[in-house]
Parts: sequence; structure tokens; C-alpha cells
Amino acid sequence: MNNTLDPAGVNSAVFIQCVGSREPDRPYCSKVCCTHSVETALHIKKHNPSSQVVILYRDMRTFGERELLYKQAREQGVIFVRYDVDQKPRVEVEGDAIKVTVKDHVLGFDLTIDADLIGLATAIVGHDHTDLSQMFKIPIDHDRWFLEAHQKLRPVDFATDGVFMAGLAHYPKPIEEAIAQAQAAVSRAVTVLSRQSMTLSGTIAVVEPTRCVGCGVCWTICPYKAIDRNDKGLAQVNEALCKGCGTCVASCRSGAPDLKGFTSQDVMAQVTAMYS
Ligand code: SF4
Ligand code: SF4
Repeated sequence: MNNTLDPAGVNSAVFIQCVGSREPDRPYCSKVCCTHSVETALHIKKHNPSSQVVILYRDMRTFGERELLYKQAREQGVIFVRYDVDQKPRVEVEGDAIKVTVKDHVLGFDLTIDADLIGLATAIVGHDHTDLSQMFKIPIDHDRWFLEAHQKLRPVDFATDGVFMAGLAHYPKPIEEAIAQAQAAVSRAVTVLSRQSMTLSGTIAVVEPTRCVGCGVCWTICPYKAIDRNDKGLAQVNEALCKGCGTCVASCRSGAPDLKGFTSQDVMAQVTAMYS
């Protein structure tokens, strides 16, 4: 099979955007496809200026300076037709011919386009990262993209310390954005790797094993995945990961975990001192 495209031989091309994107099951924008379709349209126009190139879109999202490509495509005669998600374009094969029918919302009637090339801008879909997510204790959202610790303050970190992210595993993005994110992730990793030792907070949880019954509430609820089941089936805190948030202390019905420096006795002593 020959996968190369001879743009000079294309007389009529139709690109259909948002194929599987921005629908109830997959509501996100795949971000790169509008630009790719416009670039391919320009490529065809460059080699065959008399060709008819039509892009069927719902919203053109040529991000940032890629808007210039969109402007260039308009200037070179690429035709943009908007379609509605409830009235998707229909592709039919009749003998050797391919026909695309779409309702033009400006003209208010169906357009039928004969095409010898069709480009489908299909959705970028996240892989099933469940194993990786469980191994590194890092969260994924319902669309199977990894979730950063904070979109603005910690955009390449996970809530789990020492694990960083970059690229398409996060969400669909163009290559230069993925590279910038990878550089940021490397910088963050170097801040850890360049140290001989690390100073951690002393305010961490400790579990009193004689009170723990191994019910698992704490390791399920800990937002930093800092508690695991030990070989006796009891809770065990990873001191390097614990952030001292106290969630496990508040959630344990056996009263087994305590926060160093904030044990029940410490807090009661402070309250007593305040009122004495
Ligand atoms: S919630 Fe309490 S009893 Fe249950 S596993 Fe954790 S420390 Fe043990
Ligand atoms: S104090 Fe917070 S971070 Fe530490 S083990 Fe308990 S729930 Fe996890």
C-alpha cells in the first residue's frame, strides 16, 4: 500500500473536522487537527492551485499564531463550511466517486461535494494508563489524561512527589508545547536530582500498629498516596511522601494514626494551656 500523497494529483479534497471530538462522550478538543488540516490544504493548494479544497468544521481552532495559516488558507481559496454537530456531514461512495453532503448553515441548504481525497480529523484518545497510574500513584481523569498537581502553580508535577509529566499523556497538544513541557519537567527533576540530601517536613503521620486493624480507609483516602499496607496488612506511612495533611488521622475510626507534633495529647495540652 502506498501511503504517500501526491498533492498535485488532488483535484478535490474535503477535510472533516471534529470527528469524534467535542461530543458528549469525548468533550475535549484534540487541539492539533484544525492546524493539520489547514496545513495539508495549503500543501495541496501550493502544488495544485486550481484544486478545490473544502474544510468542514464546527469551530476553527488554529491556536495562537497558527491563525496566520488559517488566514493564508482563506486567501488561497480554501473553502470553509461550518456544520452543526446535530447535522454531521455524510460521506457516500458511488462507484469510484466519493460524495460528501453537508448542510451549509449560511445558505440553508445541502451542499454536495465530489471528492477524490477525504481527510478525517479524528479525536486523539488517551490510552488506558491504569497500570502506570497505580504503579506511580498518580491520578488520571475520566478521559484518561493524567492530572497535574495544579494547572497554574505546578503544571508539570504530580501530587506524588518526584513524578513529572510531559506530552500527550497529559492532554492533546502540539509538538512544541510537548517539548516545552518536557523541558520544564526536566528542570523540575533536576532540582531534585542535583541535591545530596533533602529536608522534609517533620509534621508527618505515624501509625500506632497496635490500634490499626488494616481496614484500608487511610490508604484509600490519603490524597498523596503516602500510606500503604505493610506485610502484616497494617497501614504504614511513607515518610518521604506524607505531607502532614491529617486526612488519615481524621478518617481512622481506630485512632491509629497521629500527626507528629499534633497528637491528641499535644492539642489537648494547648487547649488546656490556653484556658488555664
Ligand atoms: S484507617 Fe486506621 S485502622 Fe484503618 S488501616 Fe488506616 S490506620 Fe489502620
Ligand atoms: S497526613 Fe495526609 S499525606 Fe500524610 S499519610 Fe495522612 S493523609 Fe496521607
